[in-house]
Amino acid sequence: QCSASCPEKAITGRPHYKIVKELIQDPEKIVVFSTSPSVRVGFADGFGKEPGTFAQDEMVGALRALGADYVFDVTFSADLTIMEEGSELLSRILKGTGPLPQFTSCCPAWVKYMENFHPDKTKYLSSAKSPIGMQGAVIKTYFAHKKHIDPEKIISVAVTPCTAKKAEIAREELCDAGKLLNIEEMRDNDYVITTKELVQWCKEEGMDLGKITPSKYDSVLGEGTGAGMIFGNTGGVMEAALRTVYRVLEGKEAPADFYQLRPVRGLNNRKEAEVSIAGKNLRVCILYGTAAAEEFLAEDMSGYHFVEVMTCPGGCISGAGQPDCGSVPVSDAVRKKRIASLYQADERAQYRNSMDNPEIGMIYNEFFKEPLSLLSETLLHTTYESK
Ligand code: SF4
Repeated sequence: QCSASCPEKAITGRPHYKIVKELIQDPEKIVVFSTSPSVRVGFADGFGKEPGTFAQDEMVGALRALGADYVFDVTFSADLTIMEEGSELLSRILKGTGPLPQFTSCCPAWVKYMENFHPDKTKYLSSAKSPIGMQGAVIKTYFAHKKHIDPEKIISVAVTPCTAKKAEIAREELCDAGKLLNIEEMRDNDYVITTKELVQWCKEEGMDLGKITPSKYDSVLGEGTGAGMIFGNTGGVMEAALRTVYRVLEGKEAPADFYQLRPVRGLNNRKEAEVSIAGKNLRVCILYGTAAAEEFLAEDMSGYHFVEVMTCPGGCISGAGQPDCGSVPVSDAVRKKRIASLYQADERAQYRNSMDNPEIGMIYNEFFKEPLSLLSETLLHTTYESK
């Protein structure tokens, strides 16, 4: 475990962006930013643009202008999450290695809710870390090794729509890179900056969205698929997972409706679908908000295979760290525009199945070897409080 002082280091009264700004001035530090899928459809809103404007290149350009050494895409680790969480689901279904339904684990507020109020049911949670949890661990191991960078010099900064991530990165167990490399007190991620904080930082530096020089992500953790992109929407994790599960079980490309899986889309706080894959009927449920989750937990859950839970309305696109649209507060109309913007990005994407991401292929070839390998379990999976 990390020393007890780590959480204190991660949760501090000062806005994290002010600390990161100072660290950028330190020539000894390598500051690496990783941006969540939803930030790119909230960033421009903070400058008063049309809600849901897709501003990925401007966001990356802003981070470079602020002094980033590297900018990576959390859609990469969303794809990694699908590889691990999807493999875990298949293992539970085919080999009975865990109880069903499997619940998603990428929302830290949902995980904490389960630990606090249903510790007897945390066994249903996937053991996969959240995409940001995975990203930090691979930045300080795989990436650092590949680029010959001392991992202790790396400052890993997650830029997210999510205030709960500030507590998540401080969880005592999330220092697996340090444990693997035998470096005490090194956390997988060091700071979390919300979209709102990034907008504020840019404005303090006098940046105007229209004058930011657009830029692209760095490799080798900078390529994501459309599947990773839609993680920001309610139902997105489910749709991304089913695309991969279909490919694995059927051994061929999923039909077109898996690339626009209508029953799992939309702003309802409970959606259900049944899909037939390789002769198996998979029953899935998508929930947002703890009220909908609480109702589900009180029901007979047998018969369900996979359940996605996010706590924010519509998913991460309206996380507490997302800005209002100029003077207009976030409403369902704004949420729908952000959701549509991510689905459009999925449709434009060169790759739309996590298995097709070339950088995912590379990290498994060079490092993890396969999903659920010993190294994957060490760096990409975690444990929860239970009883
Ligand atoms: Fe964070 Fe909300 Fe997304 Fe959960 S749903 S990960 S609390 S932004």
